Amino acid sequence: MSVLVISRSPLPEKLIALFRQQLPDQDFRVWPDVGNVEDIHYALAWQPPNGELAKLPKLKAILSFAAGIDHMTGDPALPKHVPIVRAVSEASKLTMSSFCAAQVLRFHHRLDLYAEFQRQGVWKQVPPRDMSETTIGILGLGVLGLDLAQRLLALGFPVNGWAKSGKPVDGVKMFHVKQLVDCLASSMVVVCLLPLTEETRGILNASAFAAMPKDSYVINVARGGHVVVPDLIAAIDGGHLAGATLDVFEPEPLPADSPLWRHPKITVTPHTSGRMSSARVAGNMVELLKQVTSGAPLQNVVDWSKGY
Ligand code: NDP
Repeated sequence: MSVLVISRSPLPEKLIALFRQQLPDQDFRVWPDVGNVEDIHYALAWQPPNGELAKLPKLKAILSFAAGIDHMTGDPALPKHVPIVRAVSEASKLTMSSFCAAQVLRFHHRLDLYAEFQRQGVWKQVPPRDMSETTIGILGLGVLGLDLAQRLLALGFPVNGWAKSGKPVDGVKMFHVKQLVDCLASSMVVVCLLPLTEETRGILNASAFAAMPKDSYVINVARGGHVVVPDLIAAIDGGHLAGATLDVFEPEPLPADSPLWRHPKITVTPHTSGRMSSARVAGNMVELLKQVTSGAPLQNVVDWSKGY
C-alpha cells in the first residue's frame, strides 16, 4: 500500500520530510513521481491537477489537506465513488475559532476606534457595548462553526446559528434554512463558515446586508465566493454596516487594484485564519491517515448528495 501526496504546486519539502519521519515504514510518493499506479491506495491532496486522481485504480480514500473541498471539485474527472475525508482536527478548530474570536472581540471592544484615537493622541471614552447585545450569528454550524459557537458562548456572547438541517445546539438560537433573514436581522456580527456550493455562492449580498442591523459587522473566513464585494462596500460606505474582516477572496491573491486593500473599514488578511505550522499540518494528516487505514468508520466524509 502506497500513499500519494498530490498537489499542482509543490508542497514544502519540510512537510514531505515530516510525513516520512513520522511514518517511516510507509511508502510516500510525491506527484508527479507516482510509480506504479496500482500501488496507490490513499492520496493526500491539495489542489490536485485535473484528471490525476482518476488515474489511480486502487484508490480507497482521498484525504483533503483542507476542510473545504472546492480546491478539487473543479476536476471533471474527480472519482466521486472514492470517499473524500476532510482534514479537520482539534488544532484546526482552535486555530479558526481563535481567529474569529479575535475579530469579534476587536469589534465588540471598539479596538479599531481606540487605535485611531491613539494615533490622534486623543483620550476619549465612547459608550461600551454590552455583551448581551453583541449577538454573533454563525452561518454554517458544522465542525468549525460549532466549535466557534461553543467558544463564543464561553466568552459570554449570545450566539445565533444557521445551518441546513437546523438541528438543535445547546445554548445556540438556531434558525432553519428558510430563516436566514431572521438570523441576520438579530446578529450584530455575522461570521460565514459555510462551504462554497451552488446554494451558498453570493449569499452575503445586498439583501443580506440590508437585513442586518445598523452598525453590524461581517466576518468571512469561509470562501471568497460567499461575498458579493461591491454590495459589501456599498453597505459600508452607505453607513449601514460598521465594517468587515475578509480572510478569503476570489481570486487569491487579492489583486493589487482591489478597493478592499485600502478600505478604512475593511480588514484584509491573506487567507490566514486557518493556517497552521508545517509540523501541525503533518501531524494532523498523519493522524488522519492512521484513522483511515485502521478500518475505523470514516469521519468528515464529503456527502455528494449535499455537495459538501
Ligand atoms: P462542515 O461541512 O462541517 O459544515 C458546514 C456547515 O454549513 C453545516 O452546518 C451545514 O449544515 C451548513 N450548510 C451547508 N450548506 C448550507 C446551506 N445551503 N444552507 C444552510 N447551511 C448550510 O464544514 P466545516 O465547518 O468543516 O468548514 C466550513 C467551511 O469553512 C469550509 O467549507 C471552508 O469553506 C471554510 N474553511 C476556511 C478555512 C480558511 O483557512 N479560511 C479553513 C477551513 C475551512 P448542516 O449542519 O445541516 O449540514
